[in-house]
Amino acid sequence: MSGITFRFSDEQEQFRQTVSRFARERLAPGYLKRSTSRRYPMDLHAEMAALGVLGIGLPEQFGGTGIEDPVLLGIACEEIGAADVNIAAAPVTIGLTGAQLAKGATSAVQQRWLPGMIDGREVVAFGLTEPEAGSDAASMRTTAVPVEGGWRISGEKNSVSHLSAAGATLVYARVPGSERSAGVSAFVVETDRVGVTVGEFTDMGQLPIGRGTLYMDDVFVPTENLVGAEGRAFSMVMGHFDYSRAAIGLQCLGAARSSLAETYSYVKQRRSFGKPIAAFQGVSLPLAEHATLVEAARWLCYRTLWLRQAGLPHTAEAAMCKWWAPVVAKNAIETCLLTHGHYGWSDELPFQQRFRDVFGYQIGDGTAQIQKQVIASRLIGPEVRDR
Ligand SMILES: Cc1cc2nc3c(=O)[nH]c(=O)nc-3n(C[C@H](O)[C@H](O)[C@H](O)COP(=O)(O)OP(=O)(O)OC[C@H]3O[C@@H](n4cnc5c(N)ncnc54)[C@H](O)[C@@H]3O)c2cc1C
Repeated sequence: MSGITFRFSDEQEQFRQTVSRFARERLAPGYLKRSTSRRYPMDLHAEMAALGVLGIGLPEQFGGTGIEDPVLLGIACEEIGAADVNIAAAPVTIGLTGAQLAKGATSAVQQRWLPGMIDGREVVAFGLTEPEAGSDAASMRTTAVPVEGGWRISGEKNSVSHLSAAGATLVYARVPGSERSAGVSAFVVETDRVGVTVGEFTDMGQLPIGRGTLYMDDVFVPTENLVGAEGRAFSMVMGHFDYSRAAIGLQCLGAARSSLAETYSYVKQRRSFGKPIAAFQGVSLPLAEHATLVEAARWLCYRTLWLRQAGLPHTAEAAMCKWWAPVVAKNAIETCLLTHGHYGWSDELPFQQRFRDVFGYQIGDGTAQIQKQVIASRLIGPEVRDR
């Protein structure tokens, strides 16, 4: 059959079923307990890696799949997100940093980090945001001063997911005197280098992701730790956001999908005024609306990943996924929580936790306002920029 199709390929469907079974059996049962701790479960992370989830699109010589298959990454994020939305962040982070290392790192750095990132022993986190540079990342102040044999890096990356488990962070820094995106380079900064210290956040959700601050005080990194061409890192990372954004959407929608499935079961057995609450349209119709929105957002995300796979433009679509899918997911989960009454509010059920975990994705990887600016500038042109 030619033309449009909304089916995964046989290989993708087989992978989906494998990941889904693992997620249901190994991840779903401990989700709530794990969510209360900042400890990232490296044991489960390695089990997940054994399914090939962390090597999608990364070079075969280091244990990856070799073939870039963004749809497969989306499937992994959705299925894992359905069981534990926090652990589902790992394929996104590893995908984001691993792809940059695979494309631009020296062979020594690739050998050092990529095998462990793919088989689940190591995490390389992603450090772009700074105290004075979030949405406006190009205004970063962290400096990399060229010195004999390498660079000296000073600055602060103050919103690094997975920092608690990371052996290194991919840090973006500028040559002193350079401005905006010009002069920004990327470096692998190992957490145990002299001059590196780490701070922690206690967030509203996503605790196991261990978001933290990386302080760098005149940290020496050797020349070989430069990733990609000198001064070109900004455009490199922006291109990678175009698929992490769709993957994040699916991660959140997975959590919404589970919440809706659990709520459909609940409304059929919970009774009030002598009937199952499913009989009340005040209960069933909002759920129908959320199911519609989740389905629509899900296919937007998969189409975006498919566009990437096909080598077609997808920057605007990725931004659409990023601002919309977390909102759709959060709203669906909120309704599921409310539909469970006081049980939903308690920590005996997962809704309050999923709500808080998904909420953060409205900010991480760029806020809705910034995504809408990306969309507007693609659809209208640079005239729309108000920055
Ligand atoms: C859960 C989570 C995980 C994260 N993980 C990472 C990570 O791993 N690595 C990393 O580097 N960063 C990470 N971040 C940081 C994230 O990318 C930034 O928080 C985000 O880009 C926004 O920057 P900011 O927080 O400094 O907000 P600001 O840029 O200060 O924005 C504040 C508010 O102003 C609005 N705003 C700013 N500029 C404009 C404008 N021009 N027009 C309209 N509104 C505007 C924003 O939308 C926002 O509502 C993470 C954040 C969260 C919450």
